[in-house]
Amino acid sequence: MSLKYAVGDLTIHRIIEQETSFVPALEMLPGLTPELLAENRAWMREAKALDDSDTLMLCFQSYVIKTPHHTILVDSCIGNDKPRPQRPKWNMKTDDTYLRGLNAAGFSPHDIDFVMCTHLHVDHVGWNTRLENGRWVPTFPKARYVFAKQEFDHWTEQNAKAEVPPFADSVLPVVEAKRHELVGNDHQIGDHVRILPTPGHTPGHIAITMGHGRDDAVFSGDLMHSPLQTLYPELSVKFDLDQAKAATTRRSFLERYCDTDTLCCTAHFPSPSVGNIRRKGSGFVCAAV
Ligand SMILES: [Zn+2]
Repeated sequence: MSLKYAVGDLTIHRIIEQETSFVPALEMLPGLTPELLAENRAWMREAKALDDSDTLMLCFQSYVIKTPHHTILVDSCIGNDKPRPQRPKWNMKTDDTYLRGLNAAGFSPHDIDFVMCTHLHVDHVGWNTRLENGRWVPTFPKARYVFAKQEFDHWTEQNAKAEVPPFADSVLPVVEAKRHELVGNDHQIGDHVRILPTPGHTPGHIAITMGHGRDDAVFSGDLMHSPLQTLYPELSVKFDLDQAKAATTRRSFLERYCDTDTLCCTAHFPSPSVGNIRRKGSGFVCAAV
């Protein structure tokens, strides 16, 4: 399995925390019919995107990107010691898979200059913090954590109504430690890192594009979860807060990168998770490189 890619003057590493069955396809994708699932079952199973009981298989991973100037971590996965009672595989876990993966890629937490989150859902902020003497502290002590202001404002508002645990234990402690930056969608880091607004899954969801003067790679976050959604971009997941907008965003994203050599680095597609967007019928595929 490929965990490392070189494109332009970037080196991209995948840091996998879990690759596992997640939610039944028919439940996760409310627009999916049993007939459409049956038509696609064979290739989905072959691609390890679907298990024997028709449950979607997802990968949960971070990307660590070395530009000529910085080391940037995109999306910080699930994390340890966090109470997530709705998800037994995530609840209060204590394994060392993630930090071992980071180490195997040649990085220590001290090497990360920036942490960027495509959005502030539970499986994208988890390793922002770790438990130390009963307190949540930034896992990456030297990093600036870059949050899209629109996304941060949305969760601040939700959290004021009723506590949102991943925001409280994995985002606010970073703010208290003054390691965060709230940025607009025109924000750039050096001449290699830009933001592409991709609302729908959450109101302030962003994709992150990297490369000198061109998009050598794009990190798509949760604008899609399964390769079935490249073929049928109109299929939104039940977790998309605005399902219609998510579908429009998905198609325009896929159209934007279709038949380019931009490496599309997905958050949750099964391994290899990374590929080039190519047209197929009235939809697309993310073709392994
Ligand atoms: Zn996710």
